[in-house]
Amino acid sequence: MPGIRKAHSPDDGRIVRYDTIKVRLYPTQAQAELFENTFGCCRYIWNRMLADQQRFYIETDAHFIPTPAKYKKEAPFLKDVDDQALIQEHNRLAQAFRVFFKDPGCFGYPRFKRKKTDRDSFTACNRVFRSGPTIYITRDAIRMTKAGLVKARFSRRPRSGWKLKRITVEKTRSGSYHCYILYEQRVRPPQPVVPTPETTVGLKYSMAHFYVADDGAMADPPHWLERSQEKLAGIQRRLDRMQPGSRNHQEAVQRYRRLHEHIANQRRDFIHKTSRRIANAWDAVCVRADALSEMSRELRWGNVLDSGYGMFRECLRYKLERQGKPFLVVDRYWPTTRTCSVCGLVRDAAAPRARTWTCPRCGAVHDREINAAKNIKAQGLDRYLSSQGSRESA
Ligand SMILES: [Zn+2]
Repeated sequence: MPGIRKAHSPDDGRIVRYDTIKVRLYPTQAQAELFENTFGCCRYIWNRMLADQQRFYIETDAHFIPTPAKYKKEAPFLKDVDDQALIQEHNRLAQAFRVFFKDPGCFGYPRFKRKKTDRDSFTACNRVFRSGPTIYITRDAIRMTKAGLVKARFSRRPRSGWKLKRITVEKTRSGSYHCYILYEQRVRPPQPVVPTPETTVGLKYSMAHFYVADDGAMADPPHWLERSQEKLAGIQRRLDRMQPGSRNHQEAVQRYRRLHEHIANQRRDFIHKTSRRIANAWDAVCVRADALSEMSRELRWGNVLDSGYGMFRECLRYKLERQGKPFLVVDRYWPTTRTCSVCGLVRDAAAPRARTWTCPRCGAVHDREINAAKNIKAQGLDRYLSSQGSRESA
């Protein structure tokens, strides 16, 4: 996910901004084998370093992670893959321990990696020498340290001034290869936008419509998502009837994985376009801090978009942030659906959850979701104004 970070050098007031471009890779047979080796070596070095850290910790009570170089003598195959990928594993393990020691309750103890359950991927940093960078892109390929030129299809190109920082090569479960290219650039921070009630929108998560806005607008996810989901359920049903390990079963599993990835792509596309449209149209967006993982657990097959709402919120947040626009999150325990957005009456929690309801005090007729979106917006703006007030008086 892209983000904004304050630069250390405050010389010109610019901040560092990161962007990621995802490309599909078409490695040759030899390159694909090298990737497989690299995935394996990364898992191997991670597990070795973790095991040695544990042993060392028990013996000496000190935290220490050996560097990858230490293992090359006993495991010469490590020399065949990009050294940068192994160094990255060391950095990641060190980082995993840093966050674990800081907050053991929130971040678990680093786990050993297994081929079956862990993603096939490796990351390598770009190093710029006098002779040039180790990693760079051409019109239709990415040059990597050991693999050389790997054929790639770009859907987007870096803008001028973007610096290639690192790449992550990943193999999906259906067997295709992708590369995430991370770019860094220095930009001037955006001018803060001051929202008004007219230029602010409140969004309520909706199972049927993805979201409902306070003005009654809905996202209404396209029908292909529903169709893909039905197809997925169909393959799942057939899989249940097949003999595991049979040729038919294997082929169906492959179809299932491909369709799964296809749906994930469609969903990402929909989420990016929808969040872009909202972030450009409004000066501020208010949402509720819903516990999304709990909501999606309640559904078995559910809506394929349920799991996408968290990503949608994250996309909205950074797309707004980049334009200097506030993203306002309302407390999830605030009774947004039970409060009358006209007179403020809070209904009893036991009141029936009907699609529409009439306020017993002021007589306003409410659509349940639109009313909630209105409350989210009012609450979000309230918070924004009070935070601005306290900033001014400070
Ligand atoms: Zn009322």
